Amino acid sequence: MRAHALTLNAGSSSVKFGLFAIGAAEPEPRAAGVVEQIGGAPQMRARFAGESDEVRRVLPQDAGRDHRAALDTVLALLGERLGDGHIAVVGHRIVHGGPDHAEPVVLTPAIIAALARLVPFAPLHQPHNLAGVEAATTAFPGAPQIACFDTAFHRRHAFVHDAFGLPRAFYDKGLRRYGFHGLSYDFIQSALARDEPALNAGRMVVAHLGNGASMCGMVGGESVSSTMGFSPLDGLPMGTRCGQIDPGVLLYLMTEEGMDAAALADLLYNRSGLLGLSGISNDMRRLEASDAPEAAEAIAYFTTRIRREVAALVADLGGIDGLVFTGGIGENSAHVRAMVCEGLGWTRIILDEEANRRGDRTISREDSPVRVLVLPTDEEIVIARAAARFAP
Ligand code: AMP
Repeated sequence: MRAHALTLNAGSSSVKFGLFAIGAAEPEPRAAGVVEQIGGAPQMRARFAGESDEVRRVLPQDAGRDHRAALDTVLALLGERLGDGHIAVVGHRIVHGGPDHAEPVVLTPAIIAALARLVPFAPLHQPHNLAGVEAATTAFPGAPQIACFDTAFHRRHAFVHDAFGLPRAFYDKGLRRYGFHGLSYDFIQSALARDEPALNAGRMVVAHLGNGASMCGMVGGESVSSTMGFSPLDGLPMGTRCGQIDPGVLLYLMTEEGMDAAALADLLYNRSGLLGLSGISNDMRRLEASDAPEAAEAIAYFTTRIRREVAALVADLGGIDGLVFTGGIGENSAHVRAMVCEGLGWTRIILDEEANRRGDRTISREDSPVRVLVLPTDEEIVIARAAARFAP
């Protein structure tokens, strides 16, 4: 019976899943999909390796509208398709490992309880991740459940990149710059180590630009600093999140506009960023297609902040040898990549405009002292690799 790893990334209203055959050196992708609109009218889309048609299913009306029902639907589909295969291990993306968890771990009741205590650190993500763990534990009682932390890649930051300028007691309570998108950075770093060892040994800035966006500065494959901090709000503006903001603005909104924590969270997480600035959409494709000046201004704000953060990371790294674009925008938007690189000439980046338009793997000119690469990320395979190591 062929053993498989199931990877789960449970968000507020969606569960992404991946199925991988394990046993060989590298997990082999067999299927990937998502259940969306959990809590509303849930639907599942999935694609199996070697099949061109997508499988689509609407969850039955009488199914629950929670993660368990979503997982049951995934399970039913996999049950039909696995043949004599079985799920030997389940890997979960867990957004927050706090100060203590970095390496992937088996989710024992004690660890789950410790991760539940971190809910206040990531109230919009951690509870859904843990709901996915609970659902998968019920669905696959015999399979080890493995946590893979989005904060893990950044856990060895020096104090100066880990702290805020607050009294020490807050640092000791865990108010630190954790950084996120660690699974994506882990994937990019391992791809660099395999394919570009000289770059991996040097000073790299990796820009994960998707609906969520952050950047990471690495030296010798190790994260030195990240644009995201205590929460996934800091740093770059994102699809609907504000990015870096003067904390005085929050004090003003509380005292003068009467906003409480829930109203602020809704503003900063759901109504800001590209959506808030453009008033049109959080979707870069729609903004690029729009003639509205607000769309152009939103893109200009996004790319300006990326350039500023590249400069900050270059200062942390003491220079730059390579820049990687990844994530939905980084991988697909030649326009954003060109706007970012324009104005970074002082770093000695020389963009090959044709290669950038084509979306080549290398988009810097041959005579550019700084290499610029476009690399597709794959967070699921990072979870699958980690989970496979725990398969019985
Ligand atoms: P992600 O969260 O990594 O899936 O990225 C989602 C973002 O990528 C959205 O803003 C999309 O509009 C953007 N995106 C995907 N494809 C393209 C494209 N061809 N051109 C510009 N942006 C794109």
